[in-house]
Amino acid sequence: MKTKLSATWIVIASILMLIAITACTVRDNTVGTTMRDGVWEGTGEGRGGTILVRITVTNNTITDAKVISQSESSFAQAALNEVLDNAIGRTDYLSLDTDGVTGATLTSTGVIDALNMAIATSKGEKTEEEKIYADGYCDIVVIGAGGAGLCAAVEAASKGYNVTVIEKQGIVGGNTNYSTGGINAAETSVQKNLGIEDSKDLFFDDTMKGGHYLNDPVLVRSFVDNGPLTIDWLISLGADLSDIGLMGGSSAKRTHRPQGGTAIGPHLMKVLKEASESENVEIRTSNKVTGLIMEGERVCGVKVENRDGSTYQLKAKAVVIATGGFGANIEMVTKYCPQLKGFPTLNHKGATGDAFSWVEAIGGSMIQLEQIQIHPTAEYVNHILITEAVRGNGAILVNAGGKRFVDEMQTRDVVSDAILSQTGNMAFLIFDDQVRKSLAAIETYYNQGVLKEAQTIEELAEKAGLPTDVLTATMVRYTKMQQNGCDEDFGRSATALTAPLNVPPYYSVCVTPAIHHTMGGIKVDKDMHVLRIDNTVVPGLYAAGEVTGGLHGANRLGGNGVGDIVVNGKIAGRNAAEEISAN
Ligand SMILES: Cc1cc2nc3c(=O)[nH]c(=O)nc-3n(C[C@H](O)[C@H](O)[C@H](O)COP(=O)(O)OP(=O)(O)OC[C@H]3O[C@@H](n4cnc5c(N)ncnc54)[C@H](O)[C@@H]3O)c2cc1C
Repeated sequence: MKTKLSATWIVIASILMLIAITACTVRDNTVGTTMRDGVWEGTGEGRGGTILVRITVTNNTITDAKVISQSESSFAQAALNEVLDNAIGRTDYLSLDTDGVTGATLTSTGVIDALNMAIATSKGEKTEEEKIYADGYCDIVVIGAGGAGLCAAVEAASKGYNVTVIEKQGIVGGNTNYSTGGINAAETSVQKNLGIEDSKDLFFDDTMKGGHYLNDPVLVRSFVDNGPLTIDWLISLGADLSDIGLMGGSSAKRTHRPQGGTAIGPHLMKVLKEASESENVEIRTSNKVTGLIMEGERVCGVKVENRDGSTYQLKAKAVVIATGGFGANIEMVTKYCPQLKGFPTLNHKGATGDAFSWVEAIGGSMIQLEQIQIHPTAEYVNHILITEAVRGNGAILVNAGGKRFVDEMQTRDVVSDAILSQTGNMAFLIFDDQVRKSLAAIETYYNQGVLKEAQTIEELAEKAGLPTDVLTATMVRYTKMQQNGCDEDFGRSATALTAPLNVPPYYSVCVTPAIHHTMGGIKVDKDMHVLRIDNTVVPGLYAAGEVTGGLHGANRLGGNGVGDIVVNGKIAGRNAAEEISAN
């Protein structure tokens, strides 16, 4: 353990030294717009941690590019190499759009950031690492550059205010980067174009029922009512939400996603980042908020830690908290939900619930912190989320005995409980080529190497370690029931009997439940004001996204998480702007 720690510290120390060296080089040399000959280094944050790259520049051209250290998964190695290959011969910065690798967005972002830092250094331009901030002022501070934070920032900035977003990680996107399934909304223009019948009332009922009626109905009504406008707003910003899928607990197809069922998160973040740039929103990464500043009853700014550990105060007329959930803070998770001890988490490492102590310190109220959702289908070994849309598009679940055991399209809590009562707390998702082709997200899982593939059910059973005869019988029976439009065994609804599962090749992936979403959090009203224990509003303070509680009750429906952050992020940004224009 000690040796491992020492090795880790040596790597971290070397990275910090290299950053310091490159920073010094910048200060010592002439600033210019062409790349200077030499060897230059840069760092970026990938999916697994810091990526350190080294480039060689000759005659304003990159002649060599290498990764010096990184901790990305084996699938990501190919993506890393592809981006490095793209860098050779370049005379300027790389971009995620043209140089990134589909399905490896976080790794691509990290290596491109690292290359761009090295390029900036070679040009003698100021790198992000050199920016150390001092006390300052802006109109609105948003804490957290995930989906909720950037929706709030873009909306507030579009009203003419200057907005600064403070993000503690080296990259933007938080858990939003990982979201796959899509955005729930009812009575939208997209549903109308596709001839899908749905209603806000049905969506309201599904959300309340899914949350076991512990949801705050006022929040749910506002969420449902504001969905269609928010979908149109995102489309106007450049989002592709032209495909619609079905998620567990929804009575109609209402999960909006990019064409072909591509993952929503990376696409949404790209759109919001671009919108932030065009609205001149300033985003400070690797800056961490440590508390709120008060003037009497009113919140008037935040305390921030710079990337070098020094601190500053950023004063503002309004503050929006959008720091996400606490699913990566295992101590906090087990404090509120002791039965989750030992469960893996699907959350990004920054989901640590930092904001709760600041809000409690000023008398703010918390709600339903014990409501923590486990997602039924995390890939067993690497804990990669396998989106519910795979089941929505037709996959079934079988246990280690090769038998179905649940209506796969039940809500997450029901399906998770069902898996946890099977041998080994695990199950196998089974689907065919028709399902694979219907959902682009499955290509990512395929490329990540987490799927087993076979030309026959017998071969699949052998590869997955399932009893051949039982799995074959399960598949034959399911295909028959699907064709008859009636699941006699578990009551999966006719709308959810999406595919006959009889087109080879066949696929399986072993799954287990994992910590997914924290439904409780800061108590807010429908305008996203933070509330005190007596339900009065804290002036100047808003919160939106997974950091808030009350919308999802005891169980969040798939697609309502991203729905929440876009609808309520926008509402928080609009109301923060309106409050300061009124004062
Ligand atoms: C693997 C996975 C898949 C998912 N798939 C779906 C899906 O398909 N559909 C769906 O509806 N929902 C899905 N969800 C849930 C949904 O993605 C999240 O609830 C949502 O993205 C949260 O957005 P957010 O903006 O509130 O928080 P985040 O996106 O997590 O952003 C919060 C940001 O705040 C930053 N931050 C935290 N503390 C501080 C601090 N002290 N100072 C500065 N910055 C700070 C964090 O680093 C982070 O970048 C998924 C979640 C996971 C983990």
